[in-house]
Amino acid sequence: MDRREIAGLLAYMGRVDPRTRRTDPGELRDQVDQWQELLGDVPLNTESGWDARTAVRTHAVSSPYPALPVDVARQWHKHSADRLARHTDPLPSADPDDVESWRAELLGTRQAVLTGQRPPNEQRAITSGATVDPAVEARLRAIGSVIPPKVRAELSRFRPTRAAREAAAVEGRPDPLAVRCEWCHAPAGEPCRNRRMGLDGDARGNARRATPHPSRLDLATAELQRQETAA
Ligand SMILES: [Zn+2]
Repeated sequence: MDRREIAGLLAYMGRVDPRTRRTDPGELRDQVDQWQELLGDVPLNTESGWDARTAVRTHAVSSPYPALPVDVARQWHKHSADRLARHTDPLPSADPDDVESWRAELLGTRQAVLTGQRPPNEQRAITSGATVDPAVEARLRAIGSVIPPKVRAELSRFRPTRAAREAAAVEGRPDPLAVRCEWCHAPAGEPCRNRRMGLDGDARGNARRATPHPSRLDLATAELQRQETAA
């Protein structure tokens, strides 16, 4: 609040609680100085429902003592804290690899909520975004993904196996990793492995394959068809 707003607030308070009214110009100026000192960064009102006059009135009806600037400041801080408690960080638009920008955007949004410059984001991040087909969602759940779609897309290059499974689910293609591989015996959910046998019959290599064995894809295709027929 600037001095003009403080003066208006004090005039209002003088009507609500005549004990606080100052008629001497010097005293009034001192009162404005003192209130402005403590409430300079508290807004008079915000679109989110804060109003300093309401705070003054609330104090007047709930306390036998004349309101002090700190009473208004306390209500403002409570109002801000309540807003932040309802706030869920929205997904920043910054590049997640740019940690500084990502962090700055998150903190900037919280600060804006705290100071009443924007409403809290009350949407739970996980349910925001495009509506997902229930069948696709069921498959994504089976894979165990709880990461919002946009972040997941950003992360996918670090997790090619999961990315391939999720892409298959979204596009309705069979997911080879949903079934066990009869060729290399990789269990469901695990990528196929290249097993190289030494001359003595012991396994020499066990490297993960980027692509599943073709017979495993055939199995998954058959399994998907079986499920779709049953559904
Ligand atoms: Zn395999």
